[in-house]
Amino acid sequence: MKSATEKVTLIGAGLNGPLLAILLRQRGFAVEIYERRPDMRRVRMSAGRSINLAVSTRGIHALQQAGLWEHMRSIIIPMKGRMMHSIAGELTFQPYGKDESEVINSISRAELNIALMNAAEEQGVAIHFNQRCTGYDANAGELRLRNEESGEDVTRRAEVVIGCDGSASAIRTEMLKLGRFNFSQVHLDYGYKELTIPAGFHGEHLLETNGLHIWPRGNHMLIALPNVDGTFACILFLPFEGADSFASLCTPSDVVRFFEDRFPDALRLMPQLASNYAANPTGSMVTVKCSPWHVEGKSLLLGDAAHAIVPFFGQGLNCGFEDCTVLVELTDRHGADWPGVFERFEKERKINTDAIADMAIENFIEMRDRVADARFLFRKKVELALEAKYPNLFVPKYAMVTFHRIPYSVALTRGAVQDRILAELCAGIERVENLDWDHAEELIRRDLTPLELRP
Ligand SMILES: Cc1cc2nc3c(=O)[nH]c(=O)nc-3n(C[C@H](O)[C@H](O)[C@H](O)COP(=O)(O)OP(=O)(O)OC[C@H]3O[C@@H](n4cnc5c(N)ncnc54)[C@H](O)[C@@H]3O)c2cc1C
Repeated sequence: MKSATEKVTLIGAGLNGPLLAILLRQRGFAVEIYERRPDMRRVRMSAGRSINLAVSTRGIHALQQAGLWEHMRSIIIPMKGRMMHSIAGELTFQPYGKDESEVINSISRAELNIALMNAAEEQGVAIHFNQRCTGYDANAGELRLRNEESGEDVTRRAEVVIGCDGSASAIRTEMLKLGRFNFSQVHLDYGYKELTIPAGFHGEHLLETNGLHIWPRGNHMLIALPNVDGTFACILFLPFEGADSFASLCTPSDVVRFFEDRFPDALRLMPQLASNYAANPTGSMVTVKCSPWHVEGKSLLLGDAAHAIVPFFGQGLNCGFEDCTVLVELTDRHGADWPGVFERFEKERKINTDAIADMAIENFIEMRDRVADARFLFRKKVELALEAKYPNLFVPKYAMVTFHRIPYSVALTRGAVQDRILAELCAGIERVENLDWDHAEELIRRDLTPLELRP
C-alpha cells in the first residue's frame, strides 16, 4: 500500500494534467484527476474551443519522456515557416529555422487532449469528469468538489494537490486567501476567434500545407494552422473595441465586408465565414504572474494556473510541458519530499516562466506590426547567416525558445544582447553579402559566451 504522500491529486485534465499524471505514474505515484468538463471523448464539446497548437522542442521532449511522441507523429503537421499573405494576395515565405529540421508542429488541441487522456488512463490514472473543484483546504487536506451534472457537493481527502486547472485556477484562488500571495493578471485589449478553412474537394489543403499562414494587418491579424484532415484552423485576432474591432463587426455582412477588404484571398476559401464567426465565442488573452506557487508540500500550481501567457510565441503548452518534466526530474532526485520538490520547482521555473511571458508580449507586437516589414525580414536573414557561421554563439532568440531547451531566461537576456549586435551590423546595409564579418566576429566574441545546446 502506497503512503498518502505518494498519492497525488491533480485538478484539471486539460493538456498539462494528463501529461503530468503519466509522468508521475511512470515513477510509481498513484494519481487521480478531477476535471470540471464532461469527457470530450463521449460528449460533443462546445464550438470554438479546438484551436490548433504549435508544439516545438520543449513539448516534444516532454512527450518523448512520456513515450508518446511517436504516436503523436500521425496527428501533427510540421510547419517550416511563416507564409505571409499581403492584401494583394502576394505570398512571402520566411523559414522558422536554419534548415528543415527546425520546424514547429501543428496539432489539434482536442486530438492532443484525447491522446493524453487515453494514455493516462492506460497507465492507471483515474480521471473523474464533471467534477469542479470549488475549494481546497491545504491544512486539513480537504478538497471540495461539485458534481456539474447533479449539483451535489462532496469533500474528499487529498494530501498533495497540483492545480493544473488553467488560467482561471480554482487552486490559485484558494492561495489568494492565504495572505502574502502575489498575483497579477493583465488582459490584452485584443480578443481572438476561431474560424475554419475547409478542405478541398478531395480532402486536400487549399493553402500550402507546411506553413503557418499569417495575414498581418497592423492592429489586426489572421493566422491559419494546418490540420491532418485537410482543413486549416484559423484564428482572427482583433481589438475588442474601436475601429476594426470585434465590437465593430455587428452583422454577418460587416464580417464578410471586413474580410473582403482585409483578407480577400482567405475569404475566397471560407464559404462559411459568417456562420462560423457567429457560432464561435470570442476569447480573451491574459498574462498571469503569481508567487508563491505552492503551500508547503501540500499544493502546487503548474502550467497556465501558475503562469498563463499570451499565445504569440506558441509556448504556453510547451512551457507547461517543460514544467512537467522539471517537476518529475525533481521527484527522481528527491522522491516524495514534496516541500523540497515544490520549493526547488518554483525556484527553477519562475524566472523562466516570467521570461517567456515577457517574450510572448514582445512577439505579439512583432507578429502584429513587424513581420511584413522589409527591414525585419532582412534582419531575420542576417540572424540566420550569423547562426550558420557561429552555431553555438549566435542562436536567434526565436530558435533558442523554439528549437532548443535553453532556459527561457537565458534566451531573453542573450536575445537583448544579440538585438544590439544585429542593430549595429545591419545599420546602413541592405544585403547579407554586405555584412562586415570582421566586425561581426569582434562583437560576437566580445559579447556572447558559447551556449550548451541540448537537443
Ligand atoms: C488562442 C490560443 C492559442 C494558443 N496557441 C498555443 C501554441 O501554439 N503553442 C503553445 O505551446 N501554447 C499555445 N497556447 C497556450 C496553451 O493552450 C495553454 O498554455 C495550455 O492549454 C495550458 O494547459 P493547462 O493544462 O495548464 O490548462 P488548460 O489547457 O486550460 O486546462 C485546464 C483544465 O482544467 C479544467 N478546470 C478548470 N477549472 C477547474 C476546476 N475548478 N475544477 C476542475 N477542473 C477545472 C479545465 O476544464 C481544463 O480542462 C494557446 C492558447 C490560446 C488561448
